[in-house]
Amino acid sequence: MVCASIEGAIAYVSEAFVKREKQKARILRKSPWWKTKCSSGTCYYCKRSIPPSELTMDHIIPLSKGGMSIKSNIAAACKECNDRKKHTLPFKWAEYMESLNQPAEV
Ligand SMILES: [Zn+2]
Repeated sequence: MVCASIEGAIAYVSEAFVKREKQKARILRKSPWWKTKCSSGTCYYCKRSIPPSELTMDHIIPLSKGGMSIKSNIAAACKECNDRKKHTLPFKWAEYMESLNQPAEV
């Protein structure tokens, strides 16, 4: 089946795709795999210790960019990182990631 109604050339991710992947994410969120992942209590991005109950599910490659709800594309992130990633342009996000890799000297 070929999708006939593509709105503009940039719309390469269909609504149906996002819907399906969101559904998959919902199932994964209930899985023992996710509970184990959260029990580590570490944010995938900033590596800080976060209470498991405060970790959120984040798609490393966002669904809107064609990322899928597969284990290798899902990370446990703190709310701060998740929010930041959502509202930050990709290159700004890369800068933030780099800044995290610098040893934090006090
Ligand atoms: Zn974080």
